[in-house]
Amino acid sequence: MGKLDVKILRYLTPEDFRVLTAIEMGMKNHELVPALLATQIANLRYGGVHKLLKEMCKHKLLSYERGKRYDGYRLTNAGYDYLALKVLTQRGTIRSFGNQIGVGKESNIYIVANEEQTSLCLKLHRLGRTCFRNIKGKRDYHQHRHSASWLYLSRISATREFAYMKALLDRGFPVPKPIDFNRHCVVMELVEGGPLCNINEVDNVEALYDELMDLIVRLANHGVIHGDFNEFNIMIKDDGKPVIIDFPQMVSTEHENAEAYFERDVNCIRDFFKRRFGYESELYPTFQDISREDSIDAEVKASGFAKQIEKEIDTFLTENGIDYKEEKDNEDSEDSEEEIYENCVDNIEDLKCQLKDLQLQNEIVVKEEFNASTRVSV
Ligand code: ADP
Ligand code: MG
Repeated sequence: MGKLDVKILRYLTPEDFRVLTAIEMGMKNHELVPALLATQIANLRYGGVHKLLKEMCKHKLLSYERGKRYDGYRLTNAGYDYLALKVLTQRGTIRSFGNQIGVGKESNIYIVANEEQTSLCLKLHRLGRTCFRNIKGKRDYHQHRHSASWLYLSRISATREFAYMKALLDRGFPVPKPIDFNRHCVVMELVEGGPLCNINEVDNVEALYDELMDLIVRLANHGVIHGDFNEFNIMIKDDGKPVIIDFPQMVSTEHENAEAYFERDVNCIRDFFKRRFGYESELYPTFQDISREDSIDAEVKASGFAKQIEKEIDTFLTENGIDYKEEKDNEDSEDSEEEIYENCVDNIEDLKCQLKDLQLQNEIVVKEEFNASTRVSV
């Protein structure tokens, strides 16, 4: 069920996207978006919108649900995927879609290609949709938030990942080159190689071990801890060199549990090398070895990814001549998106727990090629 391929991007009209986006907007304040509200936001005729909403439910881009107080529509993962893919194809960042190459615990990974036929990696972040069951008892912010938090979490996760990758690449770290992002999707360089977990033999085990430990220390000297530095998030290129991936959960070395996270990253590598290569070394870095010389943590925080999201939404509203003031006023008392995210992931364990159920949500299977002539026009 629910399998969709990107061919549908061609068939969706500008009005379809307008209605999808209206639901996205409405979900900022409503668990379920009534058709009437969608109509107001989309600024289209009610009858027309009604028909489009039905149509998009059929394609599983939206779902219609009965709420306690009223019924309404919500975006599905696939609907959200289409909104992002639409923007990325419009910008020319991606032109065609290839195979799914990974199902991470928090993402789906696809090969895509740009207009020059260069293969790229597309990561769709999937967070938070079901996590609130788990956190609810601990924190009550969900009560004044809405069930659309998965949109925010996935989106902020992608934005953070992009920001960290950029900051790391700028400093010469071996990470995939970040290319573009929209909503919950990040487009980055495709690493030619495979994850360390698939590697059974390396030319020089000791050298690789040293290099990885050195990376952990260098990251910390720049103010950050990867937080999930393990054989699944280290790619080994065809030339044997490591590339680090998967950054949404990165934490600052100022975090109250920084030392524990740092040690966990170090121990992941030690354990893996012992298990896989029978290699043990007395030498491994400790938190005390760090000498901070830079602040990627502060830079990413200050880059205002939350503000950027707000700006995007405002741009959309302005460009589409949509008056959304009334809705926006209701938001004043809510946390900033950054706060929501920090609340949610100030503890990496929380992040992990959010991610467990999400494999169920993989509704999109992208395999059809499509080319410029079939791109959706707006
Ligand atoms: P998750 O957060 O779900 O763990 P990852 O970023 O770790 O997602 O990616 C999951 C898998 O997808 C990786 O283990 C790797 O095999 C593949 N992958 C991710 N990014 C790239 C990339 N840039 N190039 C090639 N493969 C990648
Ligand atoms: Mg990973």
